[in-house]
This record gives sequence, C-alpha cells and structure tokens, in this order.
Amino acid sequence: MSDNYLHDEQEAYDLVEAVLWPDGPVCPHCGSLDRNSRMQGKSTRIGAYKCYACRKKFTVKIGTIFEDSHIPMRFWLQAIFLMASSKKGISSNQLHRTFGISLRSAWFMSHRLREAMRGGPLNPMGGDGGSGIVEIDETIYGRADTHPKGRRRKDTRITNSAHKNVILSLVERGGSVRSYHVAGSTTNEIIPIVNANVSREAAVMTDSAQLYKYRLGDFSSHDRVDHSKDEYVRHEEGRPVIHTNTVEGYFSVFKRGMRGTYQHCKERHLHRYLAEFDFRYNERVALGMNDKQRAERLLKGAKGKRLTYR
Ligand SMILES: [Zn+2]
Repeated sequence: MSDNYLHDEQEAYDLVEAVLWPDGPVCPHCGSLDRNSRMQGKSTRIGAYKCYACRKKFTVKIGTIFEDSHIPMRFWLQAIFLMASSKKGISSNQLHRTFGISLRSAWFMSHRLREAMRGGPLNPMGGDGGSGIVEIDETIYGRADTHPKGRRRKDTRITNSAHKNVILSLVERGGSVRSYHVAGSTTNEIIPIVNANVSREAAVMTDSAQLYKYRLGDFSSHDRVDHSKDEYVRHEEGRPVIHTNTVEGYFSVFKRGMRGTYQHCKERHLHRYLAEFDFRYNERVALGMNDKQRAERLLKGAKGKRLTYR
C-alpha cells in the first residue's frame, strides 16, 4: 500500500475521512448522512463538503483535534505516524524542526495528539479475558505549581512529596494501564478511582502503604507486599505471584521518557502526558499491535476531542 497520504493533501484528507467517516460524510451541523456532496471547483478548499439539508459547509476537521488548525493534513498524518511509532514520544521541538512550523504551532499539535491518545476501553480491569490481576500504586512526579514552596501538603503519605504531583496507576498484569493525576494519596482520592475501574472479580495487589491498609473495595482478593521489610515478591501456593513490579516498571518507563523527551511539563498538562504514555503501553507490540494499527487508533481518537484552550 502506498503512503501518498503523507505527501499529498487530497490523499491525506481521503484517509482521514475513511477512518473518521466509515459510513460516508456526516454533516456536523445537522447530522445529515446522505445529502452531502464534495464541493468542486478550482477555488474550493480540499476536503470541503456542502450539506443540502442545512445548506452549510463542513470538512472532516470539525469536532476533531484538527479543527481550527492551519497545519496541512499530511503533516498531521506524519506526526501521528511519528508519535505512534516512537518509543519515547515526539517533542514539540522535533515537530517544529521536522515541519518547519512555529514552535507555538508545534506545541499545539503535540498536545492535540496527546488528547487524541486519551481514552480507550473503559470496561472494568481484571474482569473476564485477562489475567485478573490488577496492580495499583502511586508515584510522585515533578513539582506541583498549586502548592507554593514553604507549605507542606498534609494529604500525602509519600516521604518528601510536599509540592510534588501524585500519579496513580492501575495496571492489569499482561494487559492495559490507566493513569491519573490525583490531588493526593488519600483514600478519598484513590478509592473512588479504584472502584470505578477495577472489576469485583479482580485480584488486587498493592504495597503496604497506610492507604492500602484500608479496604479498597469489594474485590476477590487484596494482597500487599511490604517494601519497608524488603519484601518485593511473595509466593503463596496455588495463587498468582504477589508483587507490584508491573506498575513500578510502568512508572520507570514514564519517568525515563519524560526526562529524555519532555524536559518541561506543566502540572496542568500532566494528565495529557500520562494519556500519551498509557496509550503507548496499551497499544504495545507485545499485545500484537504494529505501528500502522497504532497510528490508526490514534487517528480514530482525534474525533470528539476538540481543544478549546490556547
Ligand atoms: Zn447539515
């Protein structure tokens, strides 16, 4: 299959339309499916359609991360392929150099792509069809701008974590991850997220931090490894091995990637970087995903994600 869509603007639109409109063009103004036609004529912009039901014009960009962007669609597709095939992500600086667009445009582009990576399947973790084991842990990352220097956060258990951001991740062993930027390591913050995401059939594993001494929810089991006693792995006969190495491994990939590719990350954007690293983990090669399929997943996520911030 040729990859002309990376170089030819019309072909780029054709590909995006095929993925986002699998049943043909949909008018974003009135929802009409069958009274749309592609606008013809020399002065017509590529990708322009007219709806004869409401008489308005539209393109496939409306209601997506591409809306209000003047960056050519072929550049978007190139960026999607780069983002989907790189192990550590693509910085705004790289997009700026690759496409010769302003740093500001490159920055918007990369955040919109991250937005497209957000979401994914929301069925309960640790239910049917997987390992049934969900590891839960938190880590701290970067400085929290909402907690000025000199004031200690009372709501967090992690030593020296004052002024730091707290990240909570849930990983199904052999499956997917979901990460959250949370306000602190308290039961009020953590338990509702755990309950909303984890199946009641799951075997839950955590460390032995104070927070996890509480009942997290109604799960089939909840085992803790006691890091303070140098216990990292525990074997119990007839049961899955008890550890939190998978979620800790995820944190180390996240931190290494952030350090290598994205030196600066403002607190208010942290959830987007988490979405990017979650996406890459969830669409990984080990789960049978190749670069092209991963890029198509990313493109599908462009829909319904229009960003309004500037
Ligand atoms: Zn219409």
